[in-house]
Amino acid sequence: MMTCKDADKLIPLFLDDDLDNQDLSDFLDHIDSCPECKEELTIQFLVKVGMQRLEDGNTFNLAGELNYLLKDARKRLRRRRNLVFTSYILEIAVAALAVICLTLAIVL
Ligand SMILES: [Zn+2]
Repeated sequence: MMTCKDADKLIPLFLDDDLDNQDLSDFLDHIDSCPECKEELTIQFLVKVGMQRLEDGNTFNLAGELNYLLKDARKRLRRRRNLVFTSYILEIAVAALAVICLTLAIVL
């Protein structure tokens, strides 16, 4: 389980989309279960994105955007995991095929 100190360190990395699968997963779980870190994330998000938007002069809904960002991160995490799983299955299939070919070569 990730500590608040760890999560706090990962907030800037999360906002830059710079976390690997494991860290991202632990981070999202921690944010879900820890109001303090969620608040810290919200503040850093506001500072980072809010300043940007003020410079652009756009209107924005930052609370909505942060929720979207968190949801999107979960989705991407799932997709990346599926990808790892798929390549794992493919590797097994290729290995199985190689064994079958070898067996056939011996039998024939
Ligand atoms: Zn925390």
